[in-house]
Amino acid sequence: MIKAIKGFNDILPDQSAKWLHLESILADVLGRYGYEHIRLPIVEQTDLFARAIGGATDIVEKEMYSFTDKSEPPTPLALRPEGTAGAVRAVIEHNLLRGDTPKLWYIGPMFRYERPQKGRYRQFHQLGVESFGSALPDADAELIAMTHLMWQELGLKDEMRLELNSLGELDERHAYREALVAYLTDKQGQLDEDSKRRLTTNPLRILDSKEASTQALLAEAPKLAEFLGAESKAHFEQVQAYLTALGIEFEINPHLVRGLDYYNKTVFEWVTDKLGSQATVCAGGRYDGLVGQLKSIGTSDDKAVKSEPAVGFAMGLERLLLLIDAVSPIAELPACDIFVVAHPEVYSAGISYAQALRYSRPDLRVKMASATSLKAQMKKADKSGAALTVIIAQQELDDNTISIKDMQTGEQKTVAQDWLSTKDNFVR
Ligand code: ATP
Ligand code: MG
Repeated sequence: MIKAIKGFNDILPDQSAKWLHLESILADVLGRYGYEHIRLPIVEQTDLFARAIGGATDIVEKEMYSFTDKSEPPTPLALRPEGTAGAVRAVIEHNLLRGDTPKLWYIGPMFRYERPQKGRYRQFHQLGVESFGSALPDADAELIAMTHLMWQELGLKDEMRLELNSLGELDERHAYREALVAYLTDKQGQLDEDSKRRLTTNPLRILDSKEASTQALLAEAPKLAEFLGAESKAHFEQVQAYLTALGIEFEINPHLVRGLDYYNKTVFEWVTDKLGSQATVCAGGRYDGLVGQLKSIGTSDDKAVKSEPAVGFAMGLERLLLLIDAVSPIAELPACDIFVVAHPEVYSAGISYAQALRYSRPDLRVKMASATSLKAQMKKADKSGAALTVIIAQQELDDNTISIKDMQTGEQKTVAQDWLSTKDNFVR
């Protein structure tokens, strides 16, 4: 038997209703903020991710599903590990930034070759938001406020903690990086293996090392905040002031750096302590240089390309659902309210009845079984979770009636054929 690939999950009917419910709540909040939906390809050129995310990141170094297609010469392609690179590519390619400041959202599967465990899969789903064209701190605050409302609508308000940091601008970060590397190089022997490697590839990532010994070393290390210029500092302070005005609590985490290279200034994460080490449910930040960086690919003069400021986030839907299950489970609704059972000899009348009911009562879920014996159909009705079964045989047709069975009490009675058209007779 051929099975699904490790880390790639089926979402079966007993789970899918929760997914639809979650997705509709999130889409509703996005609509309330005036964000527009965009649908992007799942496969892009590998180079797009390598350039956008950065060569020395975990994603590009070891997590990407890349392959070549059958074109000549073969094109290196990859399953998207995240959504921002593709969104930025689309915005540039279709000139969406000309005279506009698009606020976009997308949802769908992402792929990373990671060790599968609870809250971490190889195919997982993100909802992502990208807000283009504003360099001002209100854009950062709006995204955070929107996620805050999402947690409220999902009953997760008390489970989420907001962590904030500012990475400053590229030159500020580079100056800090040098200072950090200088400080840690002497003490290399005390670093964990990963951090030692990162000292040359991606030193800032050492800040979020989970090793206690490394964290102890970092206590005395130079601080990123001390390297921020006046503009970066003012931006960060204004983000905080907006959040305070909105009544949104936050903590500054000076070690929050994020695993992707494109961020500058504000970075944030929503974390929970209900999901073990897969604690981050939603993460994002500002990436003012990425549009320019991707636009300049293939041009000779990098400096001539103007960037456009942007800020975004992505949330992991599996982690969100695990959290919802842990603290405020979504009530499971049966897939069926009314089951229509019809004697095989008058089955056509049964179909017509059910069809008319679906037109007149769009609030109800009406199910039928195939034209087998009444007994077999009744068995299906029992299993369906329906509140009411409608039974139609020759007698009912002759009398213009239907028989109805209350599936909770087992009580059965005969009523007028149009009984269910009167909304008060049956409320879902
Ligand atoms: P982590 O530190 O947990 O690996 P990350 O920094 O790699 O997360 P991002 O790239 O910021 O994650 O993605 C945003 C969100 O997507 C994460 O906060 C998480 O909720 C979710 N996510 C990321 N990778 C996975 C995965 N392999 N399986 C399930 N969800 C994931
Ligand atoms: Mg990761």
